Amino acid sequence: MPVEFKKFVAIRLYGNLNDFLPVSQRQKDQRVGFWGTPTVKDLIESLGVPHVEIFLLVVDGLPVNFSFRPAGGSLISCYPKFSSISISGITLRPEFVVPPRFVLDVHLGRLAAYLRFCGIDTLYSKSYTDNNILDIAQADGRIILTRDKGILFNGKALYGYFIRNTNPQLQFAEVVDYFDLAAYFEPFSRCSVCNGEVIQVEKSVVENQVPRTTFQVYNVFFQCSRCGQIYWEGPHFNRITAMVSGYSR
Ligand SMILES: [Zn+2]
Repeated sequence: MPVEFKKFVAIRLYGNLNDFLPVSQRQKDQRVGFWGTPTVKDLIESLGVPHVEIFLLVVDGLPVNFSFRPAGGSLISCYPKFSSISISGITLRPEFVVPPRFVLDVHLGRLAAYLRFCGIDTLYSKSYTDNNILDIAQADGRIILTRDKGILFNGKALYGYFIRNTNPQLQFAEVVDYFDLAAYFEPFSRCSVCNGEVIQVEKSVVENQVPRTTFQVYNVFFQCSRCGQIYWEGPHFNRITAMVSGYSR
C-alpha cells in the first residue's frame, strides 16, 4: 500500500539546482509529502539537493534558514549561488573566504592538480575520509568539492559544491566558472604534488636534479619549497598555460 502523507509542500528549485532532479522533473514544482515537523533542510535534501548549494531559501515569501519547519501547503523556493546579485543580509552563509580555498574528495586527483597549477590553494589526499574532509573544511574555511553528494548533506558542511562532470578538464572549467576563479589564478605558484609554494630557482640549483637533456634544453626552472619537486617550462608547462589563458580576463 502506498504511504499516505498527511501534509505536502511544494519545492521550487531555481537555476542549476535542477541538475539534481531527473531530467523529466526539472523546472517544475516538486510536491513533497511528509509526516511530523521536518526541517526545510530535510525536505529539500529528500529531493537529493545538498543544502550547501542553496544560498537563499524563501518560504511563502519570507527568507528562512535551514532549521525552519514549514507548515503543510507551503511553497519553498530554493535559489543557487548568485554571481551578480548581492544577497548579503538574507543569504544563508557568509561569503566564501577570498581567494577561495578548497578541499577535494578522493575522486578528484586530476582536478586537484589543475587547480594547484593555477595557484589555487587545494588540499587533496587519497587517504582522506569524509570526516577528515568535513573537519578540514570547518577548521580552515575551505570549500568542499566532491563527486559524493552524501558528504554535502552533512550539517557540518558550510561551503561545498557537487562536481557535475566526470572529465577532469570539464570539471576544472565548471569550478572556475562557479567560483569565478580566474581572478585568483597565479599559474605555477603552487606545487601540483603537495600544494606547497613554488618559486623560480637559478638553473644551476637544479643541475644534478633533472635529466641531463632537460637541463641542456630548458633555462627556466621552478622548485617546490615544501617537497622539492622541480618544474620547468616544457611541453607540460605550455599545456597548462594554454588551459589557463582560456580563462584570463
Ligand atoms: Zn611540493
